[in-house]
Amino acid sequence: MPAVICVVGQKNVGKTALIERLLPELVARGRRVATIKHDAHDFEIDIPGKDTWRHRQAGSRTTIIASSSKVAMVRLMEREAELEELLRLVEPSYDLVLIEGFRRSPLPKILIHRPEAGKESPAILGDVWAVVTEEETDIARSAPRFRPDDVAGLVDLIEQRLLGGPAQASAWNLPALLAEAGRQHGHLCPGQVLGVRMAILGCERLGIPDPKSSKRVVVFVETDRCGADAVQTVTGCTLGKRTLKFMDYGKLAATFLDTKTGRAVRICARESAREAAQRFAPEEPDPHRAQLRAYKALPDDELFTVQEVRVELSETDLPGRPRRRVTCERCGEAVSDAREVSAGGRTLCRACAGGSYYAPIQERVRKEARS
Ligand SMILES: [Zn+2]
Ligand SMILES: [Zn+2]
Repeated sequence: MPAVICVVGQKNVGKTALIERLLPELVARGRRVATIKHDAHDFEIDIPGKDTWRHRQAGSRTTIIASSSKVAMVRLMEREAELEELLRLVEPSYDLVLIEGFRRSPLPKILIHRPEAGKESPAILGDVWAVVTEEETDIARSAPRFRPDDVAGLVDLIEQRLLGGPAQASAWNLPALLAEAGRQHGHLCPGQVLGVRMAILGCERLGIPDPKSSKRVVVFVETDRCGADAVQTVTGCTLGKRTLKFMDYGKLAATFLDTKTGRAVRICARESAREAAQRFAPEEPDPHRAQLRAYKALPDDELFTVQEVRVELSETDLPGRPRRRVTCERCGEAVSDAREVSAGGRTLCRACAGGSYYAPIQERVRKEARS
């Protein structure tokens, strides 16, 4: 779960402005930050006349609007939401939630203090971790003082106290990924090690350090053996999400496509990697164990070839809802995503059009075949 801190203070002391200054500094330090704002008045976010407003006027209690880059939700409440409920709406992968307001919550707080803005209620002062002020004040005496422009100092404090120190340079944690791949696949085999390293290399070459959260990667795997599972573990791409495409080439290779930029790299395990493993661990009698050790340690260019490639991903192969859905005129089964075939003026599924991988043995179908 993300860490949470509230920015509090009297009206018009500059809470929003401070959050606006903290955000770029946190983002520059590699943090993913969400914000929540409390509004004492009944805010209006729906524009009268717009579709979502019309939905709500007609009786919808929760209206969600979604585009390819944003989602917004307006939900009518019987009572004011608890802060915990709001925090549950933030994805757990975030580092920090900055909250504007909610002064009475027992969470850590940054208090912006201006004497002329009025007295602070003593009830909130116990959780104040920092006081932002231009003047000397004895409010929340034990908390450190920061000038309003000392953004770096405030973010240092947030990192030290809430985020476990400065962010680590983003590095792939190979041992952790191998352990995870072994768990998901059922055993840690040389194929898992090569698959994990291949996926890391692919994402590195695309400049995507967080394939699971960025959701930009589509992978074409050319094998249905061990390595394919490892690629799935590292990238989070799956067949069901349509972000993993199986190309039945019988090769330990995969192409990593950045759907945002269109860039793609194809990575293939070198045949010579097997001999390299023997050379790496000549004292190891078991080639399987030699490979396990070598594939963890050998440099990328001894294990893989890398090519920049171009991949066309058609509309009907993209993640998201099916673009098209038809019914086979012979078997009556539904076919999504333009996988149907036109034959003799009829729309058929691939099985009915011929070359099915299965042969029906039921009585009904046999009769049909005779007629
Ligand atoms: Zn395996
Ligand atoms: Zn059919």
